[in-house]
Amino acid sequence: MKSKRTLNRFRTEWDLETQRMKSTGEAESGGDDVSAAGERAPENSGAESRDHLTGLLTLESFLDAVRGRVLQARRHGRLTGVLYVGLNDVKRVNDTFGMQFGDILIRQAATRLRSAVREADVLARVGGVNFAVALEPFDTVDDALIVADRFLDLLSETFNLFELADHPVGISANVGVSLYPNHARSSADLIRCAAMALGEAEQQGANRVEVFDRERGEETKARMELEWMLRRAIDKREFALWFQPEIDLRTGAIIQREALLRWRHPQLGQIAPARFVPIAEETGLIVPLGNWVIREACLEAWKWQHTGDAGIGVAVNVSALQLAKPNFAGTVQVVLRETGLSGELLELELTESALMANFEKSVLELSRLRDYGISVVIDDFGVGYSSLSYLKELPVSGVKLDRSFLRDIEGNRHTLPLLKSMVSLAHVLNMRVTAEGVETQAQLDAIRTIGVDTAQGYLLGMPAPMGGEKASSAASS
Ligand code: C2E
Ligand code: MG
Ligand code: MG
Repeated sequence: MKSKRTLNRFRTEWDLETQRMKSTGEAESGGDDVSAAGERAPENSGAESRDHLTGLLTLESFLDAVRGRVLQARRHGRLTGVLYVGLNDVKRVNDTFGMQFGDILIRQAATRLRSAVREADVLARVGGVNFAVALEPFDTVDDALIVADRFLDLLSETFNLFELADHPVGISANVGVSLYPNHARSSADLIRCAAMALGEAEQQGANRVEVFDRERGEETKARMELEWMLRRAIDKREFALWFQPEIDLRTGAIIQREALLRWRHPQLGQIAPARFVPIAEETGLIVPLGNWVIREACLEAWKWQHTGDAGIGVAVNVSALQLAKPNFAGTVQVVLRETGLSGELLELELTESALMANFEKSVLELSRLRDYGISVVIDDFGVGYSSLSYLKELPVSGVKLDRSFLRDIEGNRHTLPLLKSMVSLAHVLNMRVTAEGVETQAQLDAIRTIGVDTAQGYLLGMPAPMGGEKASSAASS
C-alpha cells in the first residue's frame, strides 16, 4: 500500500508552501551550484559516465543532470524534483538463483523505469539497487507523485528472468521524493533529501512513497551526528559509571548500588542515557559499551568489598542485544573471574521486552547465570507485558516496579491496591520487589505499607560517581 494519506496531507502543505515561495520570489534565488554553473546546462558540458550493467547514467553524471533541471526550473519559475528508487529483495534473488539473475532483474527494472518517464527526464543507477530520476521541470507536486506511483506499479509486476520462466519473481520497491525549491536548492542536497525520504519510506514498509520532510530530516541528521559522536566516545573514553543505592526497607541498609552509565561530551556536556542508549542499541554499539559497563561495575564492586562496604552488591542494566549474543552468561562469568567479584554480588537488570524477545534463549542464559550465582531482575516492571505468569518460567529473582507507578500513587487511588496485588503475587513466586523513583516521604510510607522489599530514588540517594567522577579509563576492554 502506498501512503496516500501522507501524500494528500503533503500535497496541501506543499501547494501552500509553493504559492508562498512564488509570491515572495524565494524560488527565484537558486542554489549554490546553480549559480556556479552559470546559465549553462551542465549535463551537456562533459562526457557522461554510464553504468555498465544498465547503460544508465552513474551518480556522477546524474549530479550534472539534476543541476541542469534545477537551472531550468529556476529560469522558468517552475519546480523540479528527484525520485530515489530502492529495489527490495534483490539480495534474495541473488542468494536463491545466483548473482547473474540479480543482474537481469536490475536490467529489467531499469527498462521498466525508463518506460515510465518522459524523454526529458533523466534516469540513473546511483547504487547497487538504487535508481534516481531527475524530472523535467513541472508545476504541481502531483506530477512527481504520479511518476512515483507508476514506478511502484511497474516494479510490483512479476519479473520473468528468462530461463527461470517457471519461477516468476516478485519484488517490492520504495520511492523517496525531494523537490526544488522546497527541500533543497543544490543538486547534491536534492539527491540527499530524496535518499533520506527513501529511507523513511523503507521504514514504513514495502511499496511506499515518501516525500522528504524537513523536520524529520533534521531529526535524522541530529541522530546521525549523535551516533557518530557515540562511536568516538567509546574510543575517547568519555563514559563513566555513577551509582545509586538500593535500600532494604526493613533495615534501612544499602544492599546494593545500581550502576548508571554517564556520557560527558567535551563540548556538549552530560548527555542523558535516554538520548544515547536507544541509539547505542539501534547501532549495536550497546554491546561493547555494555561489556565495558559490566566489567567496570564489577571492578568497582570488588573495591567496595575491601574498603568497608563488604557485602554490598552491584546491579547492572543489560540490553536485549547483549543477552542475544551467543554465550552471554559465559562472557559475564569471564568478567567475574577476571575481576575477582563473587557472582552473588552481581545482579543484572533486564526489561520484560528484552526477556520476551527470545524466550527460550532467555531461559537458557538466565539459568546459566544463576549457576554462576548471578541474579537477574526485571527492570521497569509493569510497563510491558506486565504478566507475572510467564515469570515463573524464568529464573528471575525480583522485579523493579516502574517509576510511573510511584508517580501515580498520590494521584490515582487505584494504583496502590494494584501495586499491593503485584507485590503479593511476586512474593508468592519468591521474588523481591523493588520500587524505583522514590522521591517523597509519602511514597516511601505507601510502599512500606504494601510490603515492597527494597527501594531506590532521589529521596534515598542520588546517583553519584564513586569517589569523584572518573573517566572510563578501563574502556580498552
Ligand atoms: P533504569 O535502569 O530504570 O534506571 C533508573 C533511572 O531512574 C536512572 O536514570 C536514574 O537516574 C533514575 N532515577 C533514580 N531515582 C529517581 C527518582 O527518584 N526520580 C526520578 N525521576 N528518576 C530517578 P538514568 O541514569 O537517566 O538512566 C535511564 C535509563 O537508561 C535506565 O533506566 C536504563 O534503562 C538506561 N541505562 C542506564 N545505564 C545503562 C547501562 O549501563 N546499560 C544499559 N543498557 N542501559 C542503561
Ligand atoms: Mg535499571
Ligand atoms: Mg528502571
